Amino acid sequence: MKILAVNAGSSSLKFQVYEMPEEKVLISGVFERIGIDNSFYTIKLNGEKIRKDASLSNHSVAVGFLTKELLENNIVESLEEIKGVGHRIVQGADKFDKTVIVDDVVEKIISDLSPLAPLHNPAAVVGIKAFREFMPNAVHTAVFDTAFHQTMDEEQYIYALPYEWYTDYSVRKYGAHGTSHKYVSERANEILGRTDTKVVVCHLGNGGSISAVLNGKCIDTSMGFTPNAGIVMGSRCGDIDASIIPYIMKKTGMTPDDIDNAINKKSGLLGISGVSSDSRDVEISAEKGNKRSILAQKIYARRVIDYIARYYCLLGGIDMICFTAGIGENSCLTRKSIIDGLGVYGIKLNEEANETRGKEIMISTKDSKIPCYVIPTNEEVMIARDTYKLVIGK
Ligand code: ADP
Repeated sequence: MKILAVNAGSSSLKFQVYEMPEEKVLISGVFERIGIDNSFYTIKLNGEKIRKDASLSNHSVAVGFLTKELLENNIVESLEEIKGVGHRIVQGADKFDKTVIVDDVVEKIISDLSPLAPLHNPAAVVGIKAFREFMPNAVHTAVFDTAFHQTMDEEQYIYALPYEWYTDYSVRKYGAHGTSHKYVSERANEILGRTDTKVVVCHLGNGGSISAVLNGKCIDTSMGFTPNAGIVMGSRCGDIDASIIPYIMKKTGMTPDDIDNAINKKSGLLGISGVSSDSRDVEISAEKGNKRSILAQKIYARRVIDYIARYYCLLGGIDMICFTAGIGENSCLTRKSIIDGLGVYGIKLNEEANETRGKEIMISTKDSKIPCYVIPTNEEVMIARDTYKLVIGK
């Protein structure tokens, strides 16, 4: 059965077509600069990457090109063969705790949640509408980044703010990257060979979050009301003292939008180092002795260590620490700084294994009290799996 996994952003659209249940990727691609000049798309097929310029005035036009590619490359003979389309949705708030089939009601709820994810949910709705139009007979599903975190207890997700902010304005912790945390923690349980486990997942990408997973259920995560909470990220500040914001607004005359831009786009690794939001650039600059880049790396690792320590206590121990996403899968240096900082727990790094990038491997020593693994994430296959399950269960 052919299942399409879709991730629609405001100006981009990523997709993969899977043969299920084999989980084989038949074709994948990304449409970029939708609605902007110089739009183009790239397709990956049989190990080959092809780039094509195309005028992509909106998402519907992009979906038109996508369907054309599927037919021309003989992925399908007719679009009817695509039985399910899984859409990644950033914010499902407390309305969705699992993947659901999209109908008009679900589509409206996702749209109504846009104030909580102003950049992402509107784009996802545009994507859903376009795909529902082109593939009206397929089962469309919504796979939420927040769903995996819906198992958190109240005491983890309520902020110590006026309670009415929660009841009247929905201000609470929702978390993000849930699909990745779910995938990696499930894989950790497979490796451990049981499901009664205490797992910490460190999703360290350009955005980053840590989660505590007890017996397969998330009990806390570092991202909050928005993705700008928790650890240091590429250009997001993560946890800060909230009173800094009114202080700087009064000092500089910055507006809420200016502040929003500063804490999301100009902070994190970029803000501290002044060099880049990309950890590779920061690593290179630190190697050359740039003091602010060295400081950025130290603060980055420290925040991750702090969260792991916090979750050790919350979980009552840890059976596995997992590293995933761009930095977690590839930055040997960052992993080393984090693991070395956890020595008090009897965790020991296997220096040689840690030199590996981008593949599943145990990076702790055999006598380490807690095993540490790199587990490459795969959010797309989770979208395909959930969608496949809903199609066959229909
Ligand atoms: P996104 O949140 O955009 O999905 P990714 O998971 O792709 O982000 O992670 C991007 C981050 O991974 C960047 O900071 C990048 O520098 C980092 N990264 C990728 N490859 C390496 C590498 N070989 N060494 C260090 N960092 C890397």
